[in-house]
Amino acid sequence: MAHINEPAKKLRIAGKYDVLVCGGGPAGIGAALSAARNGAKTLLVEQSGFLGGMGTGALVPTFAPSAMSGAPLIKGIHAEILALLGIGDGSNDTWPPLDPEKTKYAVDRLMKTAGVEILFFTRISGVIKTGRRLEHIIVENKSGRQALKAKYFIDCTGDADVAAMSGASFKKGDRKGAMQPASNCFTVAGIDDEKFEAIRKKDNSHDLKLSDIMRSDEGKAILPIIPSGEYRFLLETKFEKGYWGFNFGHIFNVDGTDAKDLSAAAQKGREIANNFIAYARKKFPGFKNAFLVSVGQALGIRETRIIEGEYTLTVADYIKRTKFPDSIAVYDYPIDMHQTDKSLKAFNKSHKAFTQDFLLSPGEYYSIPFRALIPKGKDNLLAAGRSISCDRQVQAATRVMPLCVATGEAAGLAAAMAVKKGNRFRDTDTKLLREKLIKQSARVD
Ligand SMILES: Cc1cc2nc3c(=O)[nH]c(=O)nc-3n(C[C@H](O)[C@H](O)[C@H](O)COP(=O)(O)OP(=O)(O)OC[C@H]3O[C@@H](n4cnc5c(N)ncnc54)[C@H](O)[C@@H]3O)c2cc1C
Repeated sequence: MAHINEPAKKLRIAGKYDVLVCGGGPAGIGAALSAARNGAKTLLVEQSGFLGGMGTGALVPTFAPSAMSGAPLIKGIHAEILALLGIGDGSNDTWPPLDPEKTKYAVDRLMKTAGVEILFFTRISGVIKTGRRLEHIIVENKSGRQALKAKYFIDCTGDADVAAMSGASFKKGDRKGAMQPASNCFTVAGIDDEKFEAIRKKDNSHDLKLSDIMRSDEGKAILPIIPSGEYRFLLETKFEKGYWGFNFGHIFNVDGTDAKDLSAAAQKGREIANNFIAYARKKFPGFKNAFLVSVGQALGIRETRIIEGEYTLTVADYIKRTKFPDSIAVYDYPIDMHQTDKSLKAFNKSHKAFTQDFLLSPGEYYSIPFRALIPKGKDNLLAAGRSISCDRQVQAATRVMPLCVATGEAAGLAAAMAVKKGNRFRDTDTKLLREKLIKQSARVD
């Protein structure tokens, strides 16, 4: 491949902060609020014009439960967001609906009250470091290319962009490099709720009557996307009268850190959504007058880089329900590994893993050690959210939004504590961190 050298140039240092949170998805929201509320001068940098990440930008229509059985295991800031939205507490396998616009606005208000400074429409494109310390991030926005300085950084980009730019080690995909498929979620309005509800099974959203209807049309011209096997996954959520969110279909072989893959997949996603609505208007009860409102402007990416941390959470830990002394969050969401190929066999295997093989019994949970947030060899950088250090299989459990908010919350607090003491993250007083998290009403045991 041809290369060209970019001439070096002086960059303006556009701001200096205690804590710089990179990315404003669920993890970034938790991190920024927690850091600012604990006294740190905090900046959150986000490439889009709103917060919420996959939830709002990719239109993922529902928060995972706060606990699969019993009272919420994920509390703290996540519970606060659910309460503000008035959508239930996510206990006992309930899936709170994530209306994108209401969520964006609710989170804006939380940020304002906490005093978090936000830089939207700003993409992080590089870092400047000395040895094991990150000194600046380089950003690009309408004001040009600039540097931002901070004492501590939290990578909440989902893709571990900042960790990767800093030279931290990471894994990506299975032995062949394959990753879970992407989905491009979308919203639909004009649905006759009563007719639609009547055909949905209440108890198992992954085995819907709707999929059966589609299966019966396999290979027929009415559903042109069927032969590719991309239709099999379907999860829908009602926001309000006639207005629903759909997490439908799979787009395979997408590397969410590859611009060409993302571009092709975005077009594929729109094709799937438009095919779906055309089909649904003819075949699904209640859809006669339904219309597509929006397709996620960000692609729904389940898996990319996973950092190599001071500790890597393993499937063995998940199975043993290991309780770590430096646990900063607990959860019982099962391994939700979407298949990497289109075959029905692969779909059934992943469906069975989610609904049977890896389920925890009521009252059981696994824990997340703080060390899984510390990229190896870095002094002042943490990662939170879907890129924390774990096996691929375990990441398929830890990647859901409630736990991303919780790891963000712990990271933000750890950073605010470090600002006061000047310590490396590896030297964090995790006993104190846990005590303070409990005071913030998070659950750590
Ligand atoms: C199709 C799909 C369905 C899902 N279903 C559910 C579900 O039902 N319930 C559930 O709880 N979870 C679900 N998940 C998982 C969940 O949505 C994500 O794993 C979670 O949002 C990850 O949170 P995060 O904060 O780590 O990253 P993200 O949500 O990806 O947020 C990262 C943020 O960083 C920003 N960013 C990235 N790179 C840069 C950069 N270089 N510069 C500046 N900003 C940057 C992005 O714009 C984004 O706002 C689903 C995921 C997908 C893809």
